[in-house]
Amino acid sequence: MKNIVFVSLIALVFLACKPNNQTIEIEKVESMQLAEAPIFNEDSAFAQLEKQLSFGPRVPNTAAHQEAANYLQKILGHYADTLIVQKAELKAYDGTILKASNIIGSFNLTAQKRILLAAHWDTRPFADQDEEGLTDPILGANDGASGVAVLLEIARQLQLTPPEIGIDIILFDAEDYGQPAFSEDPFVRDSYCLGSQYWSKNPHIPNYQADFGILLDMVGAPNALFTHEGTSVNYANEYLHKVWSIAHALGYNSYFSYLQTNAITDDHLYVNAITGIPMIDIIQHDASTNSGFGWYWHTHDDNLDAIDKRTLKAVGQTVLQTIYQENQGL
Ligand SMILES: [Zn+2]
Repeated sequence: MKNIVFVSLIALVFLACKPNNQTIEIEKVESMQLAEAPIFNEDSAFAQLEKQLSFGPRVPNTAAHQEAANYLQKILGHYADTLIVQKAELKAYDGTILKASNIIGSFNLTAQKRILLAAHWDTRPFADQDEEGLTDPILGANDGASGVAVLLEIARQLQLTPPEIGIDIILFDAEDYGQPAFSEDPFVRDSYCLGSQYWSKNPHIPNYQADFGILLDMVGAPNALFTHEGTSVNYANEYLHKVWSIAHALGYNSYFSYLQTNAITDDHLYVNAITGIPMIDIIQHDASTNSGFGWYWHTHDDNLDAIDKRTLKAVGQTVLQTIYQENQGL
């Protein structure tokens, strides 16, 4: 994903006017009625993260990508009621045809009330934000694998304690093949998020609908801060507040901040804009970097050093609790 620069500048000006932008907390909910929900196991999530890294970088059109696809289909298919693999040939910014697979696991396929959960499983073919090895692929421990790892642990818990509402877990492909910073080609619009753009235009089920969606991207860094990201605010503000309230009720205040930050182009933008399903993005904001993304972003530092199980737990437990809150109509 990448910043929308125009919006980012406005956000910076806005924040600069505030005396202490880290403490703008508009609406805090510290307690609420909590449904009984399974315990998210961060060790299981971490094992799923390590498993993905064992394949190496998961760059489309490589053997590692195919091996990872086989694994993800097997494991998600094992946990979910129904597995659908949506294959597509997608054209990258440089004309390369990417053989892509969106991997979709559904629970309670016929339930009307549904929540869509997503992450991207591919990794970036370049380290264009690094100082060395710019044209080499990144491992993507956080950028890719963390979100998938959390969703696989959630899938395991859904199988153990089946809710009555429907859940669809979509692992999007070809998110991170966007035009690199070093490219001298003319700017290509919408070069990221190819898998989610394809799915949004061609849902795996005709007229697919969900009440709302949650995208997870870079959800594993030590002491990560998840903010109210602008695209989520624009399209799905109600659900940001719902999920953040649950996070605070669970005691994860230090991870989930009410600070509003710049709009990001990520898979949720296309889901929101094309399907109309309101979808939020739980994505780390790092105020100490120019990009606003974590220090490891699109570099070779995106390895296990960029992962802390406690962050996976905070995000995973929050999303799991959200599912069971909805299941009980809370
Ligand atoms: Zn990325």
